Amino acid sequence: MSGNFHLTILGSSSATPTSNRNPSGQYLNFIDRNILIDCGEGTQSQIRRYKLKLTKIEHIFISHLHGDHYFGLPGLLSSLHLLNQTHEVHLYCFKELKEILEQIFKYSDTYLRYRLVYHFLDPKRPEVIFEDDKIQVSSFPLKHRIACCGFIFREKPSLLSVKKDMIELYKLSPHDIVKIKNGEDFLDEEGNLVKNQHLTHAPNPLLSYAYCSDTVYDELLAEILYNVSLLYHEATFCNDQKERAEVTFHSTAEQAALIAKKAQVEQLLIGHFSSRYKDTGVFVQEAKAVFEKTFLAEEGKTFVL
Ligand SMILES: [Zn+2]
Ligand SMILES: [Zn+2]
Repeated sequence: MSGNFHLTILGSSSATPTSNRNPSGQYLNFIDRNILIDCGEGTQSQIRRYKLKLTKIEHIFISHLHGDHYFGLPGLLSSLHLLNQTHEVHLYCFKELKEILEQIFKYSDTYLRYRLVYHFLDPKRPEVIFEDDKIQVSSFPLKHRIACCGFIFREKPSLLSVKKDMIELYKLSPHDIVKIKNGEDFLDEEGNLVKNQHLTHAPNPLLSYAYCSDTVYDELLAEILYNVSLLYHEATFCNDQKERAEVTFHSTAEQAALIAKKAQVEQLLIGHFSSRYKDTGVFVQEAKAVFEKTFLAEEGKTFVL
């Protein structure tokens, strides 16, 4: 794979699977980290269908405990055991999911040969839930019928790269180069200050991906989602079912687009379509009227940044 961001959609349906749509699931390869976001029924079959690596998954994020977002998880975790998975798997979820899984494993006499490490989400406030040298992941509360969290995956800034001609011009020592890579300015022999921007290549813009699982329209989200490279926002209904969206704590395609516009994101993905719509064309049509760079998060599509 080239690029630092590959997102494959495994499911785009809300509530029930249909003959051509699966419930929520997304496989994200982000700077060589393999991540699963939500795990509706059939997710592991979808991972195989799209030739993604089940045993490479290191982190699993579950937004909430409605079945269309995690009913595939016990099966997937037990398959990892059968496939001789040995590395740790980190599961980010509400604490109740641990109880549910332990009951299932107990009564099905399932034993996992690998370590499953739980990290519990806070349904009340945003927090950083994972961080390493390359990426940072935060969760934030969404407004849904039950506790629900969205996730933001952010690339962390890496060291700056120093221009070759500047190394020669100022006869930079390895010690100077380390400092400049870390963003410091430089004092030349005559004591003149040379600004860091003059010595280094402009850094690439940092990638970010926000996943807004089930949520009612909530303008306040725009602040937390501000300027992300790619936003996934649920769009369960179209405008004909606007009232139903509100009552069930879901959003319409137009509302997802309004959030994208307010948050000034670069691109928008919409999914979690109600099975009452046979044709998804109307979702993209309504969203594009508000936010042009909208795409359908449909099964098998891969988005590369
Ligand atoms: Zn759902
Ligand atoms: Zn839900």
